[in-house]
Amino acid sequence: MKRAKKIISIAMAAVMMSVMVSSCGNKDADNAIQGNSNSEYLIAPEMTELTLFSMNDTRLDDTEMWQKIAEMTNIKIKTVSSSANSDADTAMNVMLMSGDIPDLIFSTNMKKFATEYGPDGAFVPIDELISDETPNLKKQLERKEISSFITNYDGHIYYMCGVNPDTISSGWFIRQDWLDKLNLKAPETPEEFYQVMKAFKEQDPNGNGQKDEIPYLNRFGTVDDLTFIFNATPEWSVDENGKVYYGPTRPEFKTAYENMAKWYKEGLIDTEIYTRGAKSRDKLFGDNVGGIVHDWFASTAQFNDILAEDVPNFKLTAFAPPNVGHKEYTRRDVAITQGCAIGANSKNKEYAIKLLDFLFSETGSRLMNFGIEGEQYDLVDGKPVFKDSVIHGDKTAIQILTELGACALVYEQDFAYEEQWMTEEAKKGADLYIDNGYLAPKFPALSYSEDEYKKFNEIMTNVDTFRSERCQQWIFGSADVTATFDSYLEELNKLGLEEATKIQQAAYDRYMSE
Ligand code: CA
Repeated sequence: MKRAKKIISIAMAAVMMSVMVSSCGNKDADNAIQGNSNSEYLIAPEMTELTLFSMNDTRLDDTEMWQKIAEMTNIKIKTVSSSANSDADTAMNVMLMSGDIPDLIFSTNMKKFATEYGPDGAFVPIDELISDETPNLKKQLERKEISSFITNYDGHIYYMCGVNPDTISSGWFIRQDWLDKLNLKAPETPEEFYQVMKAFKEQDPNGNGQKDEIPYLNRFGTVDDLTFIFNATPEWSVDENGKVYYGPTRPEFKTAYENMAKWYKEGLIDTEIYTRGAKSRDKLFGDNVGGIVHDWFASTAQFNDILAEDVPNFKLTAFAPPNVGHKEYTRRDVAITQGCAIGANSKNKEYAIKLLDFLFSETGSRLMNFGIEGEQYDLVDGKPVFKDSVIHGDKTAIQILTELGACALVYEQDFAYEEQWMTEEAKKGADLYIDNGYLAPKFPALSYSEDEYKKFNEIMTNVDTFRSERCQQWIFGSADVTATFDSYLEELNKLGLEEATKIQQAAYDRYMSE
């Protein structure tokens, strides 16, 4: 509680200062942009400036998009954070500790800050600002998967999150040109997956006379995707009887690691998988040595175009999950950790909440997803279609939209936005997964009481650290999976996993009965 009082009292002093500063700033804002008093989207009667903390590269203030939004709503954004400090989380901590909290606070990690500092009094409980005047936010919060994710342990909501479409993100891709060359077909079972990797390793599909092929690679520094082949999961899950379990305790998880350790030993998994990093695909496909990935449809299929000249015949094709029932475990999170909070002492919190509401309206959503009509997109049969300059411009579509000020703060992402720059191969892949119903249900985001939250986090921090260390030892062969699995389970229980499971079960049961 000491920290809470400190934040609040510092904040009060800071607010008095910022009121003096911003009353000068407002005049400039009035001169710069004339609001349209006839706009049906008006939020404030006069042009009003909302201060924003955001460490994003694009400063929204001067973008064409946010000038347009200012004209429509009479709300102008003024970024008060400096991006000189490159670590966004550190900058956020410094800002919170200074007590000088702006009207709007944006972070890719907002859930963490909202959970920790919301109850301390840093942010407005936005649940108290939601009304019939904010119908779009109200509608979003009626979705259980969203409200459960952002409701804090004290029952309040301290930020609004970004919202994703409830659909697929990633899938399996394989070198079709290599399969063709070796007269193989895409694997449909774990055993076939192993045999194809072995053939890639031993039969020189890139034709350079060396066994330099790296059958499986991953740019996220993890082998989690390989566990899916055995219907295992590294996360929390629930069985058909509603019993919650921690995936890494299950027999399927053991089987997965027994096989993966063998694959690693035989050189079928990138030996630098944990360290090669974000450029793994660019590097290993570019060098014509990479064979199989589990990755995002749009960006992975793009390699077929990117490498068309440098790697003759290069062709990646999506294939069905090679496990029992062809289940895919990477359904997107609908609610995300990125989002916006409102400063507890904001004089304009009613305007701030209405601005967030506007971003979730049909009009706001179209601006955030597609840009400005006539500039980035045209309406064709009532649907926004990107102009060719966006799809085939000098920059990627995401870059163009971000620099414009779209895709900013919080909004609901429209899958049609992403689909439009997917190549035919990417669409074919996504359709294969969607049409065949390969998506496994996702374990819901649960909410906890304060005691549960603290206990659960304390236990799971230790559990996750131990588990990931042990998994790496298994892959590298410094511990044998079969011989050490039981002692590994004992250690997990010593770290409190049973208690964590009880907390999860109670939270899950509450979620299901709501
Ligand atoms: Ca070779």
